[in-house]
Amino acid sequence: MRHTHTRPSFVTNFSCIGSDCEDSCCYGWGISIDKKSFKKTLAHPELKELATQALRKVKKSDTEWARVTLNDDGACRFLDEQNLCQIHTKAGHELLSNTCKTYPRMSHFKDGDRYESLSLSCPEAARVILFNSNPFHLEQITVNHNHAFQSSPMWAKKAHDYSMQLLVKSDMQLEHALTAIGIIMKKTEDVSKGLLGSESIGSMYQQLLILHANGELKRHFDGFNQDTNTQQMHAFTSIQLWLHTNKPSRGRKRFEQIHQAILDMMEDESINMEHINTAWHQIAKPALTAHPDLFSRYLIYYVYHMNFPQVDALTPSQAFRVMLVDFFMLRCYLSVIAAKNNGLSKSDIILCFQVYHTSRQHKANYSQYVIEILNRAKFDDLPAILTLLS
Ligand code: SF4
Repeated sequence: MRHTHTRPSFVTNFSCIGSDCEDSCCYGWGISIDKKSFKKTLAHPELKELATQALRKVKKSDTEWARVTLNDDGACRFLDEQNLCQIHTKAGHELLSNTCKTYPRMSHFKDGDRYESLSLSCPEAARVILFNSNPFHLEQITVNHNHAFQSSPMWAKKAHDYSMQLLVKSDMQLEHALTAIGIIMKKTEDVSKGLLGSESIGSMYQQLLILHANGELKRHFDGFNQDTNTQQMHAFTSIQLWLHTNKPSRGRKRFEQIHQAILDMMEDESINMEHINTAWHQIAKPALTAHPDLFSRYLIYYVYHMNFPQVDALTPSQAFRVMLVDFFMLRCYLSVIAAKNNGLSKSDIILCFQVYHTSRQHKANYSQYVIEILNRAKFDDLPAILTLLS
């Protein structure tokens, strides 16, 4: 059977910067080693001795057969004095474990087609996605395979395609595109429950284009101007506390830079959302005029990478709410770092996106947790959740 294999240019243009990396993936976490690589490394004459000390069997599965232990600096024991991987230099790329061979490359499958991507937990991947020119040019090749797969429902395909079309519309402000996506997800939710036919998603999209052209969509968004500082504070405090409590060992120092910037803005031992929002409007937003498409790039990547709205086990409306929380958390991180540094450099921006995504991806149940917090903070309908953009 003929299928496609899609590779965006941000994947083609990525290459690991090794010892120049500001948060090397060879530090701070127990890299898993698959069974085959474990045996081969122990059998290699030049690596045998080091491997005996550096590898610890965990036998969780064939893919997680052993872990690399870390030295006192938190570095993988296979790194040499120049921070180069000795498995790579002495035995070549082939002997690297699957984790080391592939990270930060990843793929997802949809309807038997493969879509390549990169994890934003790698700073260089974040740089290529957020700052390189033309990161979303798609290269497609046809492949043949007969592997079984489950077809995506029509509502998921339509909701995905229309979200993408709204995000790439150059004449639509990002906040308005997100408002339109929120409205489409509400409709998609009804379709996914069998309450409406899937053609109603397309009709809603056409209607939204008309509302955009006559200025109604903007008026709709401007109408969502409730004062939600207290709710925002509750959501941000709960999520940040949870991320802080569960922070992964990788990138801890970088996480602490952001956390400290948050603490610096606290008043009477609580987070002051008004200060964060002021920093956003007065420092971060003006600094980001140098990167006007930063958030649209991020959201295009997000929709593609997550296969939005089929994210985890969320409903379309829940997936939209989690997407807005990701947007909101990044906005808060950028605000506190901008307040601390009185501006935002490219490396500050990379810090915020990479640290947030490293923390987020290390928690399998993150999105469910976010939904619970949103429900508690009363961000339970479209007007309320859209105030996270204001
Ligand atoms: S995090 Fe990315 S750039 Fe850094 S060492 Fe790992 S793969 Fe290379």
